Amino acid sequence: MTGVSMQGVRCSLVAVLLLACVPGCTRRAPDTKPPPSSSTTVYLARHVQTLDPARPAAEALAVRDGKVLATGSRDEMISAAGSEARVVDLGEATVVPGLTDGHGHLAGLGRALSAVTLVGADSRQEVLSRLKAAPRSAFQGDWLIGQGWDQNDWPEKAFPARAELDAGWPTTPVALSRIDGHALWANGEALRRARITRDTKDPQGGRILRGPDGEPTGILVDNAMDLVFAVMPPPTDEQFEAQLTAALAVCAQNGMTGVHDAGMDLRTFNLLKRWDAEGRLPLRVYAMADGIGPEREKYLELGPFQGNRLTMRAVKLMLDGALGSRGAALHAPYSDEHGQSGLLLLNPEEYEARVRAFIGRGFQTATHAIGDRANAIVLDTLLRVAGPEGVRKGRHRVEHAQVLRLEDITKLGANGFIASVQPTHATSDMPWAETRVGPERIRGAYAWQRLKAAGATLALGSDFPVERPDMLAGLYAARTRQDAAGQPPGGWLPDQRLSGEEALEGFTVGNAFASFAEDLRGRLQPGMDADFVALSVDPVDAQPSDLLTAQVRLTVIGGDTVYNAAP
Ligand SMILES: [Zn+2]
Repeated sequence: MTGVSMQGVRCSLVAVLLLACVPGCTRRAPDTKPPPSSSTTVYLARHVQTLDPARPAAEALAVRDGKVLATGSRDEMISAAGSEARVVDLGEATVVPGLTDGHGHLAGLGRALSAVTLVGADSRQEVLSRLKAAPRSAFQGDWLIGQGWDQNDWPEKAFPARAELDAGWPTTPVALSRIDGHALWANGEALRRARITRDTKDPQGGRILRGPDGEPTGILVDNAMDLVFAVMPPPTDEQFEAQLTAALAVCAQNGMTGVHDAGMDLRTFNLLKRWDAEGRLPLRVYAMADGIGPEREKYLELGPFQGNRLTMRAVKLMLDGALGSRGAALHAPYSDEHGQSGLLLLNPEEYEARVRAFIGRGFQTATHAIGDRANAIVLDTLLRVAGPEGVRKGRHRVEHAQVLRLEDITKLGANGFIASVQPTHATSDMPWAETRVGPERIRGAYAWQRLKAAGATLALGSDFPVERPDMLAGLYAARTRQDAAGQPPGGWLPDQRLSGEEALEGFTVGNAFASFAEDLRGRLQPGMDADFVALSVDPVDAQPSDLLTAQVRLTVIGGDTVYNAAP
């Protein structure tokens, strides 16, 4: 998903999750003050997956002063902790290191939670009736905001047009983001306010779709969406705080102790910074500065930031679009559209200049690259600017690393790049991905085991709200490469599946390494932060299908309980 231009984005389970959220949780940041004393707490579970090579399996975890004191058997932990210790019996739950989403968008999730959700709408009529029932929170100023439509779910499978919206909303501007965040469906009033007419030229990296008469149809693709976003009133402070609070709460409910925010705007950064200073941030947030829009200048001025739970030391850059809309930049044309090779959203010279500037200021780079051409540009640019040593030390990241030539997989791994990949993107894209790139290029697509074998660190994430902010769904997709119905049998390109342990490591150890925090987090090992999650199933040993119905029981950060399913 793009960083700066995303005003509305996809949500699916999030709507359900919001309903499960306690009434007050959309109004204020959860209270996460440190525990009152430095007493020891012992958590008993059926199993503790520590990921600590010295003691991989345990059944109890002792925590003191926000750190892991020890792991071991129940008796060992209770006697080591002393008679004063508090004991929390988690019953049949399995404890794992805190799960981190390696690529998500908190502000986007917050917006998705407040917008009208169009996810799963199976016809245009369904979209219109959901819009008719829009709650007050779905308005920004007088604009009606929706997100999550997908014309592939409709009988006619064609892009919609402004006319359908104009009938119901002749004077209210309406802006509806497509499920992947790469297209916007706007009505006539929204186009009018954005001054988009038949004479408006397509901006670089974007398209204004036009009818046979030359008039804009109301569908804006990629950078053309910015024309509308630029005139849309921002949420009020109260709306904005409620959106972020809701997003953070949904993350904690889903077993996240951390998020790598892939392209944070300054408004979000400043608010999280304030909450962090006040001890109100219920999540560790590893922020990537938005290197796409004009705020990048300000971030270059500010430089990296280290707070308590908030860190800003990476920059998000973006080279191409998405595979679904054929915006991903490929070396050779799409297999299902001749002459079309996708779009570079930034020319390689400008990309290199930004990489140089941010590396010079001490940032790690994290570049969105989906197509094989975009991925090759990232690798070659970084190797040229930072050199092989600098790439390894700087732990430069490729966000998505979705379609690569096999030689570039080798190059990525051999040079110590981090592949920040999203298992649920593979299972969302599997119905059509091979049609887009053909049988040869698909071998280097979503190729997790090839990336690993080449030496890459996998940092796993969801890209919420493009996908659900659901760690269990991510673990399931990583292990099976199947949809929730178990299709296709055996999994899609099954030799690229991850084992239960590899999947868990990707959401824990991999993300810790990708954020320079492997000495602090990712494993439950004495001295590390007491970040952990209790799940109703063991994500390593259980049947993968059990993950589909599993629940998060408890989310703990630095010894603080930030979510408890049964308080
Ligand atoms: Zn994204």
